[in-house]
Amino acid sequence: MEPSSLDRAAERLAAARRVLAITGAGISAESGIPTFRGAAGLWKNYDPMQLASPEGFEQDPALVWEWYAWRLDKVRAAAPNPGHRALARLEEHLGDGLLVLTQNVDGLHQAAGSRNVWEIHGNIRRVRCTVTDKVYAPDEIPIEAPFPVRTPEGHLARPDVVWFGEIIRLEAVEAVDRFLAGGTPDVCLLVGTTGMFPYIQRWAMRCAQSATTMIEINPEPSLLAQLCDHVFETNAGQCLPRLVGET
Ligand code: NAD
Repeated sequence: MEPSSLDRAAERLAAARRVLAITGAGISAESGIPTFRGAAGLWKNYDPMQLASPEGFEQDPALVWEWYAWRLDKVRAAAPNPGHRALARLEEHLGDGLLVLTQNVDGLHQAAGSRNVWEIHGNIRRVRCTVTDKVYAPDEIPIEAPFPVRTPEGHLARPDVVWFGEIIRLEAVEAVDRFLAGGTPDVCLLVGTTGMFPYIQRWAMRCAQSATTMIEINPEPSLLAQLCDHVFETNAGQCLPRLVGET
């Protein structure tokens, strides 16, 4: 009998020494954190430019903070799911041979035990001062009404995340570039991302142009699916554990 696409992809992953995993909001959907786009995405009900842009924040910082406090509640109530845990297990085998580049701001990869994780859009649990740029660790400043949140000095604070029109985290870009310069990944996993951002597309294209086996996991195949050798139209929490050989 011919091995299935899942078996073949799992074999490639088992033989891999270097793996780049690019994750998006979809990997956290099964932890109860809504995605932005996709079938049940938040942007169906909210205006991204009002809630996730410097201009929207300037116009109404209290409204933006209310929305972030609501999202933060969801993040705090969430636990890593089998998808996050499968990537953490994979790192146990591969060590620094696995790099997770996440667009998520929820910290669930780290909560699952992953260490080589780079957050290109920041982290929703941290707060940053709009005057001094000082970053406050999670829980250092309470995120609660009355909004907007202020620093102990009374300066306006903002979530330490990257909004539309802002520059992505340089340290994350450098980490991926270093990883790619260190050798072609054997496998690139694209998990739960629409692949809308040009830097994500560039990394995926760079891998696809080399000998990398490209694997996408997404119930609604993304723009990046056309670059992939294997596309699994299913949930990350079901597929990833099977791919890394846990079930
Ligand atoms: P997105 O919200 O634009 O798209 C989510 C993707 O996940 C869609 O393609 C959808 O089909 C897919 N998906 C939904 N459920 C899935 C599942 N169970 N398994 C696998 N895939 C599933 O996400 P994106 O491409 O990461 O967009 C990036 C932006 O969204 C970033 O700015 C990020 O900061 C932000 N975001 C982060 C979180 C979070 O931290 N958890 C949540 C919402 C949005």
